Amino acid sequence: MLPILSGMSPESLADWLRLAGQPAFRCSQILDWIWKKQADSFAAMSNLPATLRNDLSENFRLHGLSHTHTQGAADATRKFLFRLGDGRYVESVLMAANPALYGESSDRHTLCVSSQVGCAYGCKFCASGLAGFARHLQPGEIAGQVLAAQRLSGERVDNLVFMGMGEPLANFDHLLAAIALITGPKTLHLGARHLTVSTAGLVPQIRQLAEHPQQIRLAVSLHGASDEVRDKIMPVNRKWPLAELLDALDYWNSLKKQKLTLEYILIANINDSQEQAILLARHARRLHAKINLIPYNTVDGLEWQRPAESHCLAFLATLGRAGVTATLRLEKGHDIDAACGQLRLKQETTEGLVH
Ligand code: SAH
Repeated sequence: MLPILSGMSPESLADWLRLAGQPAFRCSQILDWIWKKQADSFAAMSNLPATLRNDLSENFRLHGLSHTHTQGAADATRKFLFRLGDGRYVESVLMAANPALYGESSDRHTLCVSSQVGCAYGCKFCASGLAGFARHLQPGEIAGQVLAAQRLSGERVDNLVFMGMGEPLANFDHLLAAIALITGPKTLHLGARHLTVSTAGLVPQIRQLAEHPQQIRLAVSLHGASDEVRDKIMPVNRKWPLAELLDALDYWNSLKKQKLTLEYILIANINDSQEQAILLARHARRLHAKINLIPYNTVDGLEWQRPAESHCLAFLATLGRAGVTATLRLEKGHDIDAACGQLRLKQETTEGLVH
């Protein structure tokens, strides 16, 4: 399969053009077409000579994803389904900004992107891992989700969260290459502070990303405040138990300025006890982290339940009394299976959607 032009770094594009005997300014022209003018064909690149457009189309695919379906939710969240070059699918979810964070009149948009097809980590509550791991996404397939979402919605994406399908830190090199495209001045040019990488807790990669010079944000899917609870629901905890994870997060804090986020799904009778709330508050205080509580979203085929709202509020209140900043997350997109944990491999069902 041809390489993806929009996934190329400006440096490698410049190299390719030089070898093809092209003047240096062609590189900026092409990058502008891709990233600023959001061209969706080589033919649209009208200031390039026809021979060069032809040469490009023989050597590259312009984009790595083609849009097959959009599903809209009542709260203006949209889920895009994309087909990859090899016929597999990924989803991205565009959310209007949370008015609680940005004010009612805000028109900011956050895109939730996928980093892999499927996931190998097998968290017991999550839909994405149910069908196992298929493959890593290429840098162009990750950054391309932003380009495609902007083109399809006509909106500018202001914030990006790596909270779609997959474990971004397991696809580390491609993640960094995609981040370079998303933040690069010649490409998408979004500030690193507007990017949040979410991880199930891959300790060596957390340490490695801490050393990365950009001020990217980190969210950690904690979901259990003791090894006993976390072991039951997140197999990754057996490899990197809480003590090692917390040490890695201290290291993160020693090198990064932005507050960490601890994500904590509330699952009835699994991790929602007062004891867990007290332990969670202790970890958050140690890390100066804020906590995002997410009432569990039911997943077809899994028997877990979300606790009653009053129970979630009591958990929240315990954190508050312990002096920790916590929010009970307002879920977006629950009605279109686009809420957290609901992006999953749907090859068979999605085939039916492609006309
Ligand atoms: N692998 C990374 C990126 C995926 S993020 C990570 O684990 O962080 C997806 C977020 O949704 C994670 O916080 C995940 O734990 C959460 N999630 C998974 N299943 C969920 C469910 N059924 N209800 C609510 N949140 C869920």
